[in-house]
Amino acid sequence: MAELPIYLDCHATTPVDPRVVDAMLPFFTDYFGNPSSLHGYGWQADAAVKKSREIIAQTINAQPQEIVFTSGATEANNLAIKGVAEAYFNHGKHIITVQTEHSAVLDPCRYLESLGFEVTYLPVNADGLVDFSALEKAIRPETILVSVMVANNEIGVLQPLQSIGELCQDQGILFHTDAAQAIGKVPLDVQAMNIHLMSMTAHKVYGPKGIGALYVRRRQPRVNLVAQLHGGGHERGMRSGTLYPPQIVGFATAIELAAAEMAAEGERLCGLRSQLLQHLHQLPDIHINGHPSQRLPGNLNVSFGGVDGQSLLLGLQPVVALSSGSACSAASTAPSHVLKALGRSDSLAYASLRFGLGRFTTAAEIERVGQAVVDTVNTLRGLKGV
Ligand SMILES: *Cc1c(COP(=O)(O)O)cnc(C)c1O
Repeated sequence: MAELPIYLDCHATTPVDPRVVDAMLPFFTDYFGNPSSLHGYGWQADAAVKKSREIIAQTINAQPQEIVFTSGATEANNLAIKGVAEAYFNHGKHIITVQTEHSAVLDPCRYLESLGFEVTYLPVNADGLVDFSALEKAIRPETILVSVMVANNEIGVLQPLQSIGELCQDQGILFHTDAAQAIGKVPLDVQAMNIHLMSMTAHKVYGPKGIGALYVRRRQPRVNLVAQLHGGGHERGMRSGTLYPPQIVGFATAIELAAAEMAAEGERLCGLRSQLLQHLHQLPDIHINGHPSQRLPGNLNVSFGGVDGQSLLLGLQPVVALSSGSACSAASTAPSHVLKALGRSDSLAYASLRFGLGRFTTAAEIERVGQAVVDTVNTLRGLKGV
């Protein structure tokens, strides 16, 4: 088999940490019980689920009963947004979100619009930060929910959660945040940040795919949700379906490791990112997308003037696996809605690269990638001049 390119696409997914795999393995074979069963096998599995729930709750300063396991962040976002809309439509039918959210937030909102809800999609400034005064102005008496992500999946920008949370708390509006990219990478405290609902996923933080959770606040205020999956009444009635102990144990282990290593790993990734930027700064006409410092440590998103985005990705393909900043959904050739919201032109939005550095990225890899990007951009620009 041909050697695979260097992996710098950690916003798409991450490999499972071998320590996480080790923790998961016994739950496929030895402790395989259904956590709902009332016998030894069930009790064993249930104990592991209980411990995992405690670990996850603790890292975000929540109570274990406030963690609802889901198949990932897409499902958690759907449960939060549609579940709140169905539970609170008597209070109002207005929702506020942001233009740069993930499609797993935007699409449930669009779906609710088709049912008669009104949704405000807030603009962001040139750095990708939500326009706070626009948020204040968008609030109406009938607003029931504000949904703003912690960290953006394309440009890594960290939104001012603290002030948004305070505003929502003051106004008596529920606050949901999509933390898929942020959990285990930046400190999150649902109490201090006045978060009422928070979506999480394991596979962006060296855990397995197919598992995540929604934090649902139980006090001050107690959040009501209408379930989107009906069945055995698992997860306090909010999400039916047999729990999956190997995935849940893997999720908790991944979160626990990431929390313990967060500070040191964040510093290491910032160092690697600076190293990469040093290479890129050899090139004229490059544009960094998103706030220079208020962003995830492993994220860098850059547009290259005067090159064709498709040729750039193709040229780099043998060396490095990464995504363009542009929409990665197979059917879509539209430029990234996130980069467009920053005010980038179509051509710059197309000619962009999203670097996602991670736990297993090395300095030697960054040297090779930095060199390859500089060479490829120079070659493409040279060809164009001919
Ligand atoms: C990856 C991602 C999702 C989707 O998460 P899944 O667990 O893959 O469903 C949602 N929101 C953001 C910001 C993401 O990065």
